[in-house]
Amino acid sequence: MTTFNRPWHEHYPPEIPATMNYDEKPLHEYLEESASVYGEKKALYFLGKELTYKELFHQSKALARYLQDLGLEKGDRISIMLPNCPQSVIAYYAILMAGGIVVQTNPLYMERELEYQMKDSGAKMIICLDLLYPKAVNVKPETSLEHIIVTGIKDYLPFPKNKIYPFIQKRQYQVLVKPEQSYDTHLWTHILETSDGEVTPVEVDPKEDLALLQYTGGTTGFPKGVMLTHHNLVVNTQMSRKWLYNLEGGSESVLGVLPFFHVYGMTSVMNFSVMTGNKMILMPKFEPEDVLKVIDKQKPTLFPGAPTIYIALLNHPQLKKYDLSSIKACICGSAPLPHEVQEQFERITGGKLVEGYGLTETSPITHANFVWGNRVSGSVGVPWPDTDAKIYKMDVDEEAEFGEVGEIIVKGPQVMRGYWQKPEETAQVLSEDGWFKTGDLGYMDEKGYFYIVDRKKDMIIAGGFNIYPREVEEVLYEHSEIQEAVIVGVPDAYRGETVKAFVVKKAGSDITEDELDAFCRKHLASYKVPRIYEFRDELPKTAVGKILRRTLVEEEKRKLEGT
Ligand code: AMP
Repeated sequence: MTTFNRPWHEHYPPEIPATMNYDEKPLHEYLEESASVYGEKKALYFLGKELTYKELFHQSKALARYLQDLGLEKGDRISIMLPNCPQSVIAYYAILMAGGIVVQTNPLYMERELEYQMKDSGAKMIICLDLLYPKAVNVKPETSLEHIIVTGIKDYLPFPKNKIYPFIQKRQYQVLVKPEQSYDTHLWTHILETSDGEVTPVEVDPKEDLALLQYTGGTTGFPKGVMLTHHNLVVNTQMSRKWLYNLEGGSESVLGVLPFFHVYGMTSVMNFSVMTGNKMILMPKFEPEDVLKVIDKQKPTLFPGAPTIYIALLNHPQLKKYDLSSIKACICGSAPLPHEVQEQFERITGGKLVEGYGLTETSPITHANFVWGNRVSGSVGVPWPDTDAKIYKMDVDEEAEFGEVGEIIVKGPQVMRGYWQKPEETAQVLSEDGWFKTGDLGYMDEKGYFYIVDRKKDMIIAGGFNIYPREVEEVLYEHSEIQEAVIVGVPDAYRGETVKAFVVKKAGSDITEDELDAFCRKHLASYKVPRIYEFRDELPKTAVGKILRRTLVEEEKRKLEGT
């Protein structure tokens, strides 16, 4: 057995300590601090509109007071169902100031998915985009939702009717059902006009009190709420700040393409910017040419992303038209970063693009390559300060040797408290002494650099979004003409992976791919809908009848390799 003794610390540049002191304060206090230190500086840019730190703080307080008046009590869960926009930042900090726990909800969710999440989290209120209001209204009677707060892009961008900003599709201006202010529906503009912003202070214990329930499937099954405390989020943001040690507070700007409803965008763009008093440039949707234009005009210096984002930009036919030289540093996570992409992106921008790694359960970052130090292409880098990581042999309670593949396990102050109301699932992945099993397979070299080789868990990552096969399979099984279905991820040049369904039809059925596609689209967010179908007479199974998903995955791999 190898005792690793954290060999990675030897490679840390002097600016990065192996162990850090962390602030023990609630996350929202950073907004107050930035409002006092950087008050008149721009906090955010959104499609031409800017808000200063003072304005951001003031509006967050107004909403926090209003939420308290609606009955928000400490520990209540409040959902945010918004794309990146000023309201998504304001809502987040307002909920925390008022003592609530943020539940991030993907705005692409269909009613079924929204209902599941609201029921599981017991959310009391939802803050949603006007376009999504009908969904919130429809699920409300089945859930614990008491109030719906509605806002639209036009609350911040009152464009003349005929001038549709290229980022926003026309339909986003058409509210399907125009909400009216009523006892359980509240309009954003009314809140900002009427609330006095006098928030009743709430005692928060940063290490004990939750700031966030962030839904993820974990290693198996249906989405579960990852419980992250204020401290989890504060330390991971402080670690990021240290990792990017030679950047000034208040003078950088961070491109916010990653969605804030995922913990990666939330920490690396939103919480990072607020903690450092830097400006965030919010993009509600990823459209490659719009991103190129914004980089050219707004000159962001930091650009966290995922491989698919950088690949799409590099392959854009108009790439040469735009100046990307403002970019200084990017940490890329969520999927493997191809070496050519790293090289090409660095050549074009003159900045650094390094690979990192993490999970929702770890707030999210645990590993990264050094931005201004030694890095190893193909590796996800080394563990961050105060973060331990080991490789455990598969199915044996023993540490692996250097170079030997096993499951990556991690421990550190960014590791979650557990899954919301799921003690059994928590115990399966989190040991009593704080080691978290990632469900990722990899190895470590003698210098302490980690490499990911595969995933033990079934999760598929397509275009940066996580898809859990079981959730898609359950929808397919609800179709009366389907006997069996299995979902696997298959490699895809653009999305990294894409969703493939193996389906056995019931006897006599002549259901088509198009019909199944229409059925899935009714019940699932579009990124989860299978793009490829293969009909089979039977599926490979174990002796006890369990479908062998892994066999199908291997078959797909072999097909691709031509063997
Ligand atoms: P999420 O919980 O959505 O943040 O997804 C976490 C998962 O993303 C990890 O368990 C990995 O499977 C995957 N992941 C994150 N970063 C990388 C990376 N650099 N290379 C390969 N997979 C990654």
